[in-house]
Amino acid sequence: MMNFAELKAKDSKYICNTYGRYPLAIARGEGCRIYDLEGREYLDLLAGIAVVNLGHARPEILETITEQYKKLGHVSNLFYQEEGADLAQRLTATSGADKAFFCNSGAEANEAAIKLARRYMRTVAGRDAYEIITLEGSFHGRTMGTLAATGQAVFSQHFQPLPEGFRTVPSGDLDAMAEAIGPKTAAVLLEVVQGEGGVLPLADDYLLGVEKLCRERDVLFMVDEVQTGLCRTGTFWAHQRMNLAPDIFTAAKPLANGLPMGAMLATEEAARGFEPGSHATTFGASALVCAVASRVLQIMQRDELAERAEKVGNAAQDLFRQVQAAHPGKIAEVRGRGLMLGIELAVPGQPVWDALLDKGFILNLAKGKVLRLLPPLVIEQADLERFGEALSDVLAAQ
Ligand SMILES: *Cc1c(COP(=O)(O)O)cnc(C)c1O
Repeated sequence: MMNFAELKAKDSKYICNTYGRYPLAIARGEGCRIYDLEGREYLDLLAGIAVVNLGHARPEILETITEQYKKLGHVSNLFYQEEGADLAQRLTATSGADKAFFCNSGAEANEAAIKLARRYMRTVAGRDAYEIITLEGSFHGRTMGTLAATGQAVFSQHFQPLPEGFRTVPSGDLDAMAEAIGPKTAAVLLEVVQGEGGVLPLADDYLLGVEKLCRERDVLFMVDEVQTGLCRTGTFWAHQRMNLAPDIFTAAKPLANGLPMGAMLATEEAARGFEPGSHATTFGASALVCAVASRVLQIMQRDELAERAEKVGNAAQDLFRQVQAAHPGKIAEVRGRGLMLGIELAVPGQPVWDALLDKGFILNLAKGKVLRLLPPLVIEQADLERFGEALSDVLAAQ
């Protein structure tokens, strides 16, 4: 077996230099724990970036993967398949959506949403409206279209020209939104809690105000639930907390607990924008990933993981506020929804992150100053308490 230095050298030699990787290699995972090449254990408070919501190497998922693959893996969307229809039925039953389109990633799900919005306007509403309005600080993916939608210039630097027809407005400013929506607007697309932006929940009255504006102006209201969806924020979908009713919303990260999968969900009306041939994917909706995603949904519902995320996440926020109070001037804010948690530091973030890694805790540092926690939804309260103690020790030394 390779040691870390050898693996690092091989990786740099053969893999495109697009990732600033963490200084460790992971060999194995089980439950909420991952293990490096030497077998050192880490508490995984990141879950593969909100993907492995049911934990690593989950026996029920392994069982579904093997059973389904023995039966059928992939034959393409040229055929009817029970697994896809089952999953679509289950997914729509969790929400106000009526129809699903399956793909392979979050960016692809958002691409499908953008394409559906434009095509709906032209072929159903009969208007040449194509513009998509998004928010500053948003993140919607890395394809050319979703880069154009993403409200953070850093991601699109040196990739111009980007596709036209996207406009970004300041988040939280209803007047700016009201002014931006015009005759060319097809849809507004937003995250209920901005994830990559640094775990920033948008205010309920702002979200309800944007939805109302969309209704008044006859534009589609679309929510990106790629990170927030599937129980993460304490409700099955984050938009359900404030009773939003998006025409279109997207999901991906945790949908198949680590197998690549995305979904775009739409109301019956919005879905009229697509017809045979208007959109497609070769890999999307294979029987294998659909069966796994159906199992994920069953487990989430059976184990009431939304309620669990709400309860455990609220307790974690209380705990982090105690740490904040014990170390004046070190933590600027504790925020989040459910198990999507942000601890914004008032001291430099990197040394804190380094020290936590040293103590065996895996999490993300957003914007250089926000400790972002996206643990598996099955995380034990005691594990979060251990993290709270470690954070307290680390902050005492800063
Ligand atoms: C991760 C993310 C995406 C992009 O998903 P990919 O699977 O990386 O393409 C889009 N939107 C949000 C909110 C995300 O968190």
